[in-house]
Amino acid sequence: MIQRSLLLIFTCFILLTTIAHAEENVDNEQEKINLYKQMEAITFIPWYYLAAIDRYEANIQSEEEEQDSIISIRISDLKWYGLTPTTEPTSEEIIEMFGGIGKDGTGDGIADPTNDYDILYTMAHYVQQYGPSEQDIRTALWNYYHRELTVLSIMNYARLFKTYQTISLDDTAFPIPKGYNYSYRNTWGDARGFGGRRIHEGTDIFANYGTPVRATTHGVVELKGWNKYGGWRVGIRDIYNRYHYYAHLNGFAEGLEIGDIVEAGQTIGSVGASGYGPPGTSGKFPPHLHYGMYKDNGKTEWSFDPYPHLNKWERNNP
Ligand SMILES: [Zn+2]
Repeated sequence: MIQRSLLLIFTCFILLTTIAHAEENVDNEQEKINLYKQMEAITFIPWYYLAAIDRYEANIQSEEEEQDSIISIRISDLKWYGLTPTTEPTSEEIIEMFGGIGKDGTGDGIADPTNDYDILYTMAHYVQQYGPSEQDIRTALWNYYHRELTVLSIMNYARLFKTYQTISLDDTAFPIPKGYNYSYRNTWGDARGFGGRRIHEGTDIFANYGTPVRATTHGVVELKGWNKYGGWRVGIRDIYNRYHYYAHLNGFAEGLEIGDIVEAGQTIGSVGASGYGPPGTSGKFPPHLHYGMYKDNGKTEWSFDPYPHLNKWERNNP
């Protein structure tokens, strides 16, 4: 009896903390969107661009860096203060005089690079200077980040947030639908035979020719075509600076193009054995999907082991 009530208390505790945690996330999301929309009202920069910049900046921060603030954007002292003799929060007039971009979003007369409003207003104001069109915003981002992949990622996140009118696009799917035969094991880092001494940057999922291959997350198609090693392959970037690589396909889903938005579980192609030769080469190895995951930290992109993710997605396969 005591055991049972303890179990009940424990279960309630878990349930309550789970609910609290979920609500916290929802509140947090709404708080962020409210702030983006406030800035949109002042600067006319659509909220989803601000959300996209904020998400990108969150993605490039290490977990230790994460702070207790709503906005993840961090603006360097050099950008914020320019040549201002001080790096103490001060008036935007002084900062502007010395070529800094720091602005006062709260109206307290001080431009503070640790204040959420001031940070977001500064970013929105910076972008606004270039104009309101998509091309203007692209130019603003290029001048701010000086990095092609960063601009591309932010523009794609903005499209995703605009399309779904949310910043939470966290659905996932196992790449092979239920009801099909497949097998895989952890082969990340294994040596491979073709193409010199490269390590195996992914997991091979063996399945029959023609088995559907699905996107594992929401994202935007960044690459589609032939590669000597990967054969027919597709690359999709999600909203967490992660690039998903699907190789050795038999073919692509009809109509799939670079720049398309895809959803978790959407069919993007089918299992094949293409690759290891000039375009069209197939059958040099048993049919399988090579699935790779890469993470961009704002400076470089590296491969990491997708196996634990595949395991998780397989357990919750919709
Ligand atoms: Zn492989």
